[in-house]
Amino acid sequence: MAISAPQKKTAGRRGRSAPGLIFGDLWQYDPAPETADPKLKPRYDLFIDGEFVAPRGGKYFDTINPANEQKLAKIALAGAADVDAAYRAAHRAYEKVWSRTSGRERAKYLFRIARLLQDRAREFAVAETMDGGKPIKESRDFDVPMCAAHFFYHAGWADKLEYVAAGRRVAPLGVVGQVIPWNFPLLMLAWKIAPALAMGNCVVLKPAETTSITALKFAEILQDAGLPPGVVNFVTGAGATGAAVMAHPLAAKVAFTGSTEVGKIIMRSLAGSGKKMTMELGGKAANIVFDDAPLDQAVEGIVNGIFFNQGHVCCAGSRLLVHEPVADAVLAKLKNRIKVLRVGDPLDKNTDLGAINSKDQLEKIRELVDSGVKEGAELYQPPCRLPEKGFYFRPTLFSDVTMSHRIAREEIFGPVLSILTFRTVDEAVEKANNTAFGLSAGVWTDKGSRILKMSTELKAGVIWANTFNKFDPASPFGGYKESGFGREGGRQGLLDYAKLT
Ligand code: NAP
Ligand code: MG
Repeated sequence: MAISAPQKKTAGRRGRSAPGLIFGDLWQYDPAPETADPKLKPRYDLFIDGEFVAPRGGKYFDTINPANEQKLAKIALAGAADVDAAYRAAHRAYEKVWSRTSGRERAKYLFRIARLLQDRAREFAVAETMDGGKPIKESRDFDVPMCAAHFFYHAGWADKLEYVAAGRRVAPLGVVGQVIPWNFPLLMLAWKIAPALAMGNCVVLKPAETTSITALKFAEILQDAGLPPGVVNFVTGAGATGAAVMAHPLAAKVAFTGSTEVGKIIMRSLAGSGKKMTMELGGKAANIVFDDAPLDQAVEGIVNGIFFNQGHVCCAGSRLLVHEPVADAVLAKLKNRIKVLRVGDPLDKNTDLGAINSKDQLEKIRELVDSGVKEGAELYQPPCRLPEKGFYFRPTLFSDVTMSHRIAREEIFGPVLSILTFRTVDEAVEKANNTAFGLSAGVWTDKGSRILKMSTELKAGVIWANTFNKFDPASPFGGYKESGFGREGGRQGLLDYAKLT
């Protein structure tokens, strides 16, 4: 096992050095920070009944920028009375306005929301990056455009709901309670709100404690779009606020995205309540590379699959299963590739890996990586220098991993790849399925027949072939086993917000 020491800082092309990362023998890029103004307010209140309102308990908490640990804003802490006010507003809006608004009219609101977000795309991308730590090139090129795409897609459905379930009639459920995590704050909000509104439901949503800002900026867009008050409400806070959102008696359905651990707590607490539920939980995806795969393309896919968004991705390809004949070649190529990943300032347009979302998450990653070393797996990290302030973790490879290692079984939710090998197709399937999760998988091979066999036998909600982490609003997303149930996106996602008659 060899952990290389950070290399000495070398001069940049014009005698300057980029802040953050230095990578040995390669030239450096000049800093290229994104400069758009994120238009942050010093304080964000709750968004209830179309207005920003102070929390009844008068409490606020700080949200920080994980890239430099600086405070960005104060966020309202919603208590049970605030959550109740949000539900009452949503229920009123549902009874008096939204359930009487035609699909054609609802579509216009969704379309307007998508257009307004596009108008402010750069500002939202910067805010998302500052609050959550993801590289600007991801928030700018993926999160914000995908968020708009989900609203456009569902605008298209709102006046065509008679085609969602052939031969059946669909109706809204009423008020839905939604709780989302910090890894894709805006995108998870879009996955939840767009189908709910298209189907005619009203919403109470809680964003994650560390990443509430873009939801509250999104509330400004809802106001500008003229969405009737109460149709969407945002309550911010920590786990207790989330629990109040899930438990409220006015919620006809709850939709949760987050960890399997919290998902189980919610399911237990709601057992017998009659509420409809969808759960999008954790994952431990296998990316499976056969010896006939285009290896360079596969390496790009593997890197994208686990280092994209610092590995803060539920469907991240966190296990690599590689065919033995090409295992050494793939490992060598991966090491070369991750040596040139740029880790550092998330606002820099050249940054590949930004900041880990929080100190707690960084501790969790460290703890699991330590367990991998202790349990005897071989660790490789490139010699990159990390910024002194903020929460960062080097891209990390573990080879010689066995199925009994914790790093092969538990969700790390960080930029850490565990590499295992296999000899036969059956062994690959067995190892890939030998997990409590079942959210996604990837297959890399030249043979169409093998792709079909693997996608039939793998127990995962999404299976990518010769690509990874590709999303489309028309494509349903969701898990098997401990990765949850229900689907988001596509016709199937809409059905999860509908009563069928
Ligand atoms: P988490 O700890 O489960 O938190 C998710 C959300 O639940 C947060 O808003 C959290 O509030 C809230 N919460 C905490 N305790 C709660 C309770 N008892 N009742 C109701 N809500 C509660 O998960 P995370 O660490 O933020 O997110 C990472 C996890 O999300 C990973 O496991 C990942 O795989 C999963 N994920 C899954 C998908 C998918 O589609 N399957 C997508 C993205 C992420 P606070 O933020 O204030 O703690
Ligand atoms: Mg933050």
